Amino acid sequence: RRYNFCAGPAALPTEVLEQAQQDLLDWQGRGLSVMEMSHRSDEFQGIARQAQEDLCELLSIPDQYHCLFVQGGATAQFSAVPLNLMGLTGKADYLNTGLWSSKAIEEARRFGEVNLVADGQPASYCSLAPIEQWRFSEAADYFHYTPNETIGGFELNEIPEVPSAPLVADMSSTLLSRPLDVSRFGLIYAGAQKNIGPAGLTLVLVREDLLDRALAVVPRTLHYRLIADHHSMLNTPPTYGWYLAGLVFQWLKREGGLGVMAERNRRKADKLYAAIDGSGFYANPVEPQYRSRMNVPFTLADGTLNDAFLEGAEESGLLNLRGHRSVGGMRASLYNAVPEAAVDALVGYMNEFERRYG
Ligand code: PLP
Repeated sequence: RRYNFCAGPAALPTEVLEQAQQDLLDWQGRGLSVMEMSHRSDEFQGIARQAQEDLCELLSIPDQYHCLFVQGGATAQFSAVPLNLMGLTGKADYLNTGLWSSKAIEEARRFGEVNLVADGQPASYCSLAPIEQWRFSEAADYFHYTPNETIGGFELNEIPEVPSAPLVADMSSTLLSRPLDVSRFGLIYAGAQKNIGPAGLTLVLVREDLLDRALAVVPRTLHYRLIADHHSMLNTPPTYGWYLAGLVFQWLKREGGLGVMAERNRRKADKLYAAIDGSGFYANPVEPQYRSRMNVPFTLADGTLNDAFLEGAEESGLLNLRGHRSVGGMRASLYNAVPEAAVDALVGYMNEFERRYG
């Protein structure tokens, strides 16, 4: 297997894939694959319960939260969040730090009033006004933000202290990359295909008291109260993704938990940013205090060399380094399953490329 820096669907731990391969045709001697099991069977109920327990343990999720395992990606949550939570004032505060928050904002505007608290767009999503300058609503049903912007590589390291409204966060590209104080949030959601498992599964952690303020029109498949009451089995859940996420949770526990991941991820990001900053050839445009530990975009001094860089990278076993089409350049995603050796190999390749072409 080669080193995969894809932003998503992203690398999974090799051990997890090996376990899945071993289980594929015959799960624990039952003579069938997890993919072929009824979601109501005792076998699958056990798999589902274990995954939920492991997730709760990894994140120390308090009792008053429901962990929902749903479909539709984070994009479905852009609609589900306003549909479920905008039932009190019909208004919500949103922070715009990049392409994903702006998509969440655009969708929320279809269901209620959105107050833009602060906007990073004029600074090309490389900087943001300090929190003292944010313009909060007098009353809002929630405050939504995206702690890590996967495309722009922009991250808010601190959980913002916002007045009154519950915090809602799109943690698609950061959940499970480090410990997190879940109790600071009303709701957290994440598409699985970065640090959690395969695409097709989405996690929603929602506090009990937020389940009963939905708009009347919310579709049943997006209704948090209904999903919670049916233990994420209102309809057929993404069973295989749920099982694979469970294997990832067990792998995380074996590796030592989220504190170990945080240290490892910090070392990987530091190494790569040091290589970028130490060269006159590579550059990252994000203001240093907002740099993402998960997604590192960088440009080459001469953009006409992009294709040569990518071709050489592939030949060296370094996959999926092309930046998002809206940003250009390169992007290395450093999720949990990307080993430190991958970053060493990338930095080695970057240095060699610079010596040759710089
Ligand atoms: N939010 C963030 C931060 C993302 O990185 C992504 C996708 O990569 C999405 C939302 C959209 O997720 P999905 O494709 O699962 O709908």
